[in-house]
Amino acid sequence: MFKKILIANRGEIAIRIAQTVQEMGITAVAVYSDPDRGALHVAAADEAYALEGSTSAESYLRIDKIIDIAKKHGVDAIHPGFGFLSENEDFAQACADARITFIGPTPDVIRDMGDKIIAKEKFVAAGVPVVPGWSGDANATPEEIRKVAASIGYPVLIKAAAGGGGKGMRVVKSEADLQTALESARREANAAFGDARVFIEKYITNPRHIEFQIFGDTHGHVVHLFERECSIQRRHQKIIEESPSPALSPDLRAKMGEAAVRAAKAIGYVNAGTVEFILDPSGAFYFLEVNTRLQVEHPVTEMVVQHDLVRAQIGVASGGKLTFEQDQLRQTGHAFECRIYAEDAARNFMPSTGRIERYAAPVGPGIRVDSGIRAGSDVTVHYDPMLAKLITHARTRDAANDRMAWALRRYAILGVTTNIEFLHRVMTHPAHRAGKLHTHFLEEHAESLRAEVAAPPAAALAAAMFALRSSPGKVSGAARMHADSQHAGPWLTAGAWRAF
Ligand code: ADP
Repeated sequence: MFKKILIANRGEIAIRIAQTVQEMGITAVAVYSDPDRGALHVAAADEAYALEGSTSAESYLRIDKIIDIAKKHGVDAIHPGFGFLSENEDFAQACADARITFIGPTPDVIRDMGDKIIAKEKFVAAGVPVVPGWSGDANATPEEIRKVAASIGYPVLIKAAAGGGGKGMRVVKSEADLQTALESARREANAAFGDARVFIEKYITNPRHIEFQIFGDTHGHVVHLFERECSIQRRHQKIIEESPSPALSPDLRAKMGEAAVRAAKAIGYVNAGTVEFILDPSGAFYFLEVNTRLQVEHPVTEMVVQHDLVRAQIGVASGGKLTFEQDQLRQTGHAFECRIYAEDAARNFMPSTGRIERYAAPVGPGIRVDSGIRAGSDVTVHYDPMLAKLITHARTRDAANDRMAWALRRYAILGVTTNIEFLHRVMTHPAHRAGKLHTHFLEEHAESLRAEVAAPPAAALAAAMFALRSSPGKVSGAARMHADSQHAGPWLTAGAWRAF
């Protein structure tokens, strides 16, 4: 077993990984950028080393600096978390070259799954259902592409081969828009990924996003740990996830789980991964992509299957066998996760920055908070604005929903504007409670989710009062205004970006 694991990440995920590493009796090593010198993930680790530099490009994305620190301090494995270098095959390869274990799949698998065209081709060959479409051809003429799109049938979706975070995606409703959309998708893909290749898929109207957690070991075992539903999205990015999905019958769950395992076996998958599908209203499901890392939303799976996925990742990476077999795995109860973002409703959901003045997280039975902040933490422009994740677990979906609504009311973060109030409105919306979800839920219900319509009780104010009670002291006028401003604007569909 490893003695020292370096966590090449920051924020809540670095802290969450450090906990398991330490529980296993392994030394947890943090790395940090200049703005993160006083960050909570540094305090949570046993050792911490500076990467120097402020931007991600100067710090958390620097393979050379991270490998140097690991070599110098006797690190024997690196956990990449999510985002940053987690899906970078060069990083996985650099670890291997330095004889340090990368906690994740092999560089080849990361590379192949990072190319959506290659991934799709591999899964078609393995008999996994994929969205009908066209894989793209650099030499195709505009006329040929028009024919292909017409044969798929409008609306179609243009996607970037190297895509992520919804970048390079364009919905095309009719032939008249095809050429312009292709050109702008290629431009955006090239700017974001240095790879202009795009492909075309049938655009499925109002699907649900259902993904399966998969796990493989180096002894040839592959299992799935059931599904997560992530249909509550803004600009193709998830904000609320749950498990089990209210949309799956036992039969459909078995079929999708079997397809996910088939996909994983077809590529010799090792360690934790996620096979994403979309499910159309008729019950047909299609492969979307494989994420070759731990997901942001992994806690809902941990709550429901009662296994620590990070512990399992470390076990498999050290050459051990999976400690669970498919027929031993069960879903127990129901879990939700809400992603808490620092973003400002009044300014088009742009990331909100500043110092956290007061911080009080909810505690109670069935409540888990994976947080990267505390009072005094600075939220800067340098990194993704996700501050924390609030997870609830209970025996039934309704009870887990009630618990989440309660916990959101008791989550106070003052000093930056957050989406807590909005999350509360979604969790208590009748259509959400009824499980009538799809990926355009927030757009469909935009009107009834507006602050002034849906939230007469001042949830943000209640949270602020809670913070004052639980951490006495002076709260500035600015902090009060921030709490109040959460009521200010409607939830708009435009706004921030997220890459995982
Ligand atoms: P990215 O890697 O950029 O996040 P994905 O392929 O994972 O892109 O898709 C992200 C989201 O976009 C999905 O969760 C779904 O909401 C939507 N989406 C993707 N493909 C389709 C499709 N063919 N039809 C309808 N919606 C889609």
